[in-house]
Amino acid sequence: MKSNPTPRLLGSPGRLRLAGLLAALCLQPQVWCMADADVAARVVAVPPAGSGNALYPANRQPLAPSRFIKLPIGSITPKGWLRFQLQLEADGMTGHLEEISQWCKFNDSAWASPSGEGKFGWEELPYWLKGYGDLGYVLNDPKIIRGARKWIDATLSSQEADGYFGPRANKTGLEGHPDLWPHMVMLNVLQSFYEFSADERVIPFMTRYLKWLNAQPPETFGRGYWPKIRFGDTIESAQWLYNRTGQPWLLDLGRKIHDNMARWDTGIINWHNVNLAQGFREPAVYYPQARDQKLLDAAEGNYQAVMGVYGQFPGGGFAGDENCRPGYTDARQGFETCGIVEFMHSFEMLVKISGNPLWADRCEDLAFNSLPAALTPDLKGLHYLTCANQVQLDKNNKSPGIQNGGTMFSYSPYEVYRCCQHNVSHGWPYYAEELWLATPDRGLCASLYSACQVTAKVGDALRVTISEDTDYPFGQSVEFKLSAPQPATFPLYLRIPRWCANPSVAVNGETAPLDSRPLAYAVLDRTWKDGDRLSLRLPMKVSVRKWAKNNNSVSVDYGPLSFSLKIGERYSRYGGTPAWPETEVFPTTPWNYGLVLDDRDPAKSFEVVAKPGPVPLNPFTTESAPMELRVRAKKIAAWKQDSLGLVGKLQPSPVKSDEPIETVTLIPMGAARLRISAFPVIGEGQDAHEWTAPKTPPVSASHCNEGDSPEAMIDGLEPKNSNDHSIPRFTWWDHRGSAEWVQYGFARPRTVSAVEVYWFDDTGVGSCRVPASWKLLYQEGENWKPVEDASEFAVRVDTYNRLRFKPVRTTALRLEVRLQPGFSGGILQWKVGE
Ligand SMILES: [Zn+2]
Repeated sequence: MKSNPTPRLLGSPGRLRLAGLLAALCLQPQVWCMADADVAARVVAVPPAGSGNALYPANRQPLAPSRFIKLPIGSITPKGWLRFQLQLEADGMTGHLEEISQWCKFNDSAWASPSGEGKFGWEELPYWLKGYGDLGYVLNDPKIIRGARKWIDATLSSQEADGYFGPRANKTGLEGHPDLWPHMVMLNVLQSFYEFSADERVIPFMTRYLKWLNAQPPETFGRGYWPKIRFGDTIESAQWLYNRTGQPWLLDLGRKIHDNMARWDTGIINWHNVNLAQGFREPAVYYPQARDQKLLDAAEGNYQAVMGVYGQFPGGGFAGDENCRPGYTDARQGFETCGIVEFMHSFEMLVKISGNPLWADRCEDLAFNSLPAALTPDLKGLHYLTCANQVQLDKNNKSPGIQNGGTMFSYSPYEVYRCCQHNVSHGWPYYAEELWLATPDRGLCASLYSACQVTAKVGDALRVTISEDTDYPFGQSVEFKLSAPQPATFPLYLRIPRWCANPSVAVNGETAPLDSRPLAYAVLDRTWKDGDRLSLRLPMKVSVRKWAKNNNSVSVDYGPLSFSLKIGERYSRYGGTPAWPETEVFPTTPWNYGLVLDDRDPAKSFEVVAKPGPVPLNPFTTESAPMELRVRAKKIAAWKQDSLGLVGKLQPSPVKSDEPIETVTLIPMGAARLRISAFPVIGEGQDAHEWTAPKTPPVSASHCNEGDSPEAMIDGLEPKNSNDHSIPRFTWWDHRGSAEWVQYGFARPRTVSAVEVYWFDDTGVGSCRVPASWKLLYQEGENWKPVEDASEFAVRVDTYNRLRFKPVRTTALRLEVRLQPGFSGGILQWKVGE
């Protein structure tokens, strides 16, 4: 056997060999064995970063060597359920968005005009085109490729002499300065187009634009709410171009962007859902230039900082129903569809940059468990927010339980979900492009498992084709078959997921145990021959995760799949057209179950039921889900929907229940659009809790802004100053200059003699100010009476305004304000003292 020393070899090399396999195989008259056959399986934590892969454009010096290299788009032909999702996407909303969205009308778009003039020129068109073009490339669909080309040609012909291109209005969109966020997305469109077509216009075009960008003053990269947060995207584009042209100024541009944009390498700098999902990766994107491990660690640290607080439920996303809000961490909080696809894209980038297979696991988690449920089963509509616990998708307002007011849960193909409507397009196509990656040692890596076929250059630039046949994640085996015109020597990497303790590999039918650990790569170095077969088994088992930070709720996994209660779904059209309906989904069966688990071994509580027959083309519906779990459960009678229709928040487990034991069915989360995936656990004895009916908040107001809540006044979160946007707030927005009130009720009469009010005032940001004046009333019988002997009714910012008064015994206080003319106002905290 040939020795293959590699960095970071795990375990003993001797044990990692497919021991005895060679000897066994050579006794058989197999063709491949006759020519110096050599079967060895190594296990590595990450691929080596030594030599560059000249077969594909890898990182050039002085960039850190690539761990993985993306194959040109078109190298991978997706098959199986993934192909069907892509076809549904082509037949659904994304494939027909030009008929639905005003931002995708060619004649109205500033992106389509050679002079950059037009009604619409912001993010929507590039968002859509980024996925639409790639959808055409991965499906090799001539109609979509032609459709995307029309837009790309228009963009390519819109460049000004100085290098700027596209909508001219964006050149001065930020108070006279350029708003370059939409351009970041359009560069991605062009990169994909080039990878697919090698069109000779793209490289000079991008070079001219990035030269223009490089000539902008450094402040450009720190400007604007969106641009400064997301400019890391252009660092990636500059490196992409550098790897193709080698022009050193592109790295200067990357450094300039990194130094001047929002500094994600210092921690979380913005809690907006999509900003987080795409911004957190920036330090790692910059890493190849700086070659400082701290930057890779910073991206991981950012991920942990978000998920450690807001990602405490299954599905791979986090609670950010517009922004992450302190206190809003329940499994019923939502994750925006833009966030799902951007997070996936981030993970796909991070696999290549770091080589760490954990990012691929995280990508699969979102792809299997969250993305399918963000859309209708026919991909003709989507919603804004997908939650781990979400039992009704009606069109009504869910704010302040959900931060955004208005329709957020029901499905629609229209502009009510404007950003996601366009941006969802790249979710599945980008995923399909990353199934296989080239390795720096001229091999290939199966990074994300799916049925597909890949054709790529390996070893001495020989072109091989590998067909991958699998039902994964609904099946545990992955079969590879190689076609090659002549024997090819190259390493084949297989990702071993974190949940898989005992994978096994067989070459041409000969099995050998792989002594590997989860989260690594099994590497087979061989001279591969036409017709060689490789079988990978990734045994899956049930496991139970406990979410200590979310009331000890539990979730259930089977391999990469997480599970939800199977809830009967009733679809009801409320708008749109018959071809493009808007739909609500209501539950037809009970959902308020807690699980009855085996205390010693919770995973033993589940029976796995694989449905007979092949995996359906679309496995992501309640009825077609290829597998189910059965488990004992009890209803929790007091667990209900709240007045907004939101599922009640989880309460501490274990939970008492006197209801009879039933057997309930769980299905993969991705197939469940109505879902309970973070479950209470039923318990008995002293540590079991009663589920209590949620209290009606004791505070109310004359008016409350949709995204704010009266409850925020009494949530106990201490303001840092009056302009503190990091905590929930109450405001009377958009009432201005009016007389308003807030009220604080008590369960039983109490004696009070003081209040403290912390006013909200966002001078410099918005139009809320401290009020012109205020007074305090208390309830006596049916009447409201002003407090007596009051001290000062102060309106100071950045501090509590304490008011003392003659003690009163009452069941409610009312604070009346007169807002300043032309301004609104609000309260961050309101305390009541004896
Ligand atoms: Zn969105």
